[in-house]
Amino acid sequence: MNIKAMTLPEMTAALKEMGQPAFRAKQIYTWLHKGVRSYDEMTNISKDLRARLQQTYPFQTPQVVRKQESQKDGTIKYLWMLPDGNCVETVLMRYHYGNTVCISTEVGCRMGCAFCASTLGGLVRRLEPQEMLDQVLFTQVDSGLPISHIVLMGIGEPLDNFENVMRFLELVNSEDGMNISMRHISLSTCGLVPMIRELAKRKLQLTLSVSLHAPCDEIRNTIMPVNKAYPTEELLAACRDYYKQTGRRISFEYAMIHGVNDRVEDAKLLLKRLKGLPAHMNLIPLNHVEESPLKPSTRAAVAAFQKTLEDGGVPATVRRTLGGDIDASCGQLRRKYTKEHV
Ligand code: SAH
Repeated sequence: MNIKAMTLPEMTAALKEMGQPAFRAKQIYTWLHKGVRSYDEMTNISKDLRARLQQTYPFQTPQVVRKQESQKDGTIKYLWMLPDGNCVETVLMRYHYGNTVCISTEVGCRMGCAFCASTLGGLVRRLEPQEMLDQVLFTQVDSGLPISHIVLMGIGEPLDNFENVMRFLELVNSEDGMNISMRHISLSTCGLVPMIRELAKRKLQLTLSVSLHAPCDEIRNTIMPVNKAYPTEELLAACRDYYKQTGRRISFEYAMIHGVNDRVEDAKLLLKRLKGLPAHMNLIPLNHVEESPLKPSTRAAVAAFQKTLEDGGVPATVRRTLGGDIDASCGQLRRKYTKEHV
């Protein structure tokens, strides 16, 4: 296993095999979770042990391929190259409540949503736990800004990479690591029902975000292939059970697409279907993707949709778009880079 994917007890066991006491494992764990770039930065570890570590667990870090900073709102977008040459994106957003990183969980995605740039080239591979952790660590180190919040809303479907994501959450949440509270973490899914049910069993205090984007199968089937496997009724039933099991209100994402899902009737149907389920609606004006014919809803349509939901008792916010000047949404930078380099 990669040394950075180890929990502290696992690292303690691994170091014991190398003849090292438990406190040494803790020192190394702490260094790794500070985002050092090599074992040589671990100044309280002997040179000899550093060399042995390098031999047993070769040190790997992602490299910055591109970095774009928004002049408008301070959003920073990183394109990282992973040790095998694949690229993923991370976005740092500066909210009043804290610096938030949006991380990728896979290289590409196999979910096929019609409006999303990340899925255009399919799934290349899933990310390892340390590759998700590195995005948080090195965004913090490079920007010099302390990270307090994480959203799993970058490239990929987190619940299609379940075990690695669970391990990443354990690492980033650990007291001797970044110690980021589960309540400061949001996980977004396109609606893989069996995995939502599995996640519910773990009873984590994170926020589950469900990409709903439509009030009914007729519409959802046309933009999200996953809906054919897990139709809206099953998805909403899983959400209700999730709430019952965890006590955590679900946050729904709804990309507003002109002429597709943005009528007031759609909002009314949503209200009906969400009855009794404590929810929050995040309305996201569609980010236009070059390869797609879909267009964002008009401001007026977004406002009318929001009002209908609010009047019906479902809190709805329109997501402020950050970093619009730097391709800071959903796989667009990786897409551009890949297109330029083939
Ligand atoms: N696979 C996960 C998380 C990654 S996508 C999921 O589907 O939830 C993060 C969010 O961005 C999802 O709600 C996704 O539907 C949305 N999204 C993707 N492309 C978009 C676009 N062009 N405009 C607006 N939202 C988009």
